[in-house]
Amino acid sequence: MAYDYDLFVIGGGSGGVRCARIAATHGARVAVAEERFWGGTCVNVGCVPKKIMVNAAEYGQWLEDAPAFGWEATKGGFDLAKLAAARDAEVARLNGIYARLLANAGCTSFEARATFLDAHTLDVGGRRITAERIVIATGGRAVRPDLPGAELGMLSDDVFTLQSLPRRLTVVGGGYIALEFACIFRSLGSEVDLVYRADLPLRGFDQDIRGALQEALAAQGIRQHTGRHLGRLDRMGDGLLLNLQGGEAVEADAVLFATGREPNTHGLGLEAAGICCTADGAIEVDEDHRTTAPHIFAIGDVTDKLNLTPMATAVGHALADTLFGNTPRQASYRNVPTAVFTSPPIGTVGMTEADAAALGPVDIYLTRFTPMRHTISGRQGRKALMKLVVCQRSRQVLGAHMLGEDAAEIMQGIGIAVAMGATKEDFDRTIGIHPTAAEEFVTLRTRTREAGVRAAAE
Ligand code: FAD
Ligand code: NDP
Repeated sequence: MAYDYDLFVIGGGSGGVRCARIAATHGARVAVAEERFWGGTCVNVGCVPKKIMVNAAEYGQWLEDAPAFGWEATKGGFDLAKLAAARDAEVARLNGIYARLLANAGCTSFEARATFLDAHTLDVGGRRITAERIVIATGGRAVRPDLPGAELGMLSDDVFTLQSLPRRLTVVGGGYIALEFACIFRSLGSEVDLVYRADLPLRGFDQDIRGALQEALAAQGIRQHTGRHLGRLDRMGDGLLLNLQGGEAVEADAVLFATGREPNTHGLGLEAAGICCTADGAIEVDEDHRTTAPHIFAIGDVTDKLNLTPMATAVGHALADTLFGNTPRQASYRNVPTAVFTSPPIGTVGMTEADAAALGPVDIYLTRFTPMRHTISGRQGRKALMKLVVCQRSRQVLGAHMLGEDAAEIMQGIGIAVAMGATKEDFDRTIGIHPTAAEEFVTLRTRTREAGVRAAAE
């Protein structure tokens, strides 16, 4: 049968655009449908506008610190509307670039919603379109928690439409999004309460990093309500009252729910194409990202594996090379570096101490220090933590973790070393760059402790 396209990609976000573009450069006839905004979550309501707000928050801190370095600087007021205008202009610019990237690669673009009619046929904004292969790259969406009054709260998308700073903001959640926005708004000048249900923030991250982050949040005046479960959200005068189970209540002018995201599969017509989902609602895929329908693939957040932009693009690229470039390959989910843009930020790659220790004995090298900048500025809560988790048997560095300024920038390079299987001795014989915080990763001479099977047995 002759199909309209060799490949149809549903979703013009990070993963979909990369996959479509690369497939087209391999010579495939490709079309993409995007129902909301080219570039998807990352460009429009995720990484990019968030990072611009992180930058804005940093300027505020530098203004406060500048007098200690001799500058006659005073911190004036902050105008969120002005930042929003600059941020939105940059988002619009990138948005256009994404659309042009597709056109330049020879892809056909549809600004419309696509849904399955059958395994090879899609409804694209009312048109029937057929394709030999289909990639689902529809991403995810923020979930509102199930509590009375939840509709009164914001989700992360809503942050990017705020035109003025809430005087008091309550953030619910202890994951990436909650922590990043709690730090951003605190630095911009809001009073921030952070409510999470665990004892420490960032479940799944290394325990030392979690503890150090909790201290850093407290030092910057973020009030943490730990181990708390939600009750109800009510209006109170011009503001809101978030009632927590057990009696405590937090007053705020705005509440941000950052309680997780769910894969965008609703109404896609997956049943019509024979595509199954996991119990959590993600599209089920094998190692090649093939769904339960052999010619249909799913990539990125809709598969809910590792919900990061570079992961979605890496998987999309590998899939296009495999299907149309005569180069079968898979993107690896191992040793993926990641950063949380808190204040200070976190960078991490590889295994946590707990995960590594569960597999065997490990040596832990850890340092905490105040960066030189802040011995001068006197700013509290800026202590850095750097940590290596090293396999006792092979001496391989299994994990590297950092909380501290520039952690995201530093961890990209450390990530290469860890992915290559560098040993502690490889780190040690690398000459440091002085004076930096990063050099600590190559000067950690003294083992802090050991952990794991042998340590437990002793
Ligand atoms: P998306 O980028 O979400 O793209 C999916 C697209 O599909 C959307 O544009 C959607 O409109 C479209 N779509 C959905 N259904 C249909 C349909 N039926 N028809 C047509 N189009 C459809 N990751 C990082 O690596 N670093 C960060 O700093 C970072 N910060 C983030 C901050 C926030 C606030 C959020 C929410 C996320 C952040 N992420 C970050 C995660 C990152 O944005 C996602 O992992 C990434 O965008 C996933 O790409 P994707 O292609 O899978 O989906
Ligand atoms: P996460 O899954 O990271 O965190 C969700 C948080 O909400 C957890 O602390 C969770 O608690 C809590 N939670 C879930 N349900 C409830 C509930 N009913 N009541 C109270 N708390 C609840 O999701 P995010 O939305 O923060 O981020 C989604 C993903 O987007 C991230 O995992 C990441 O992959 C990506 N992202 C990446 C960024 C980056 O790279 N810098 C930045 C932002 C997002 P518990 O831990 O107890 O389950």
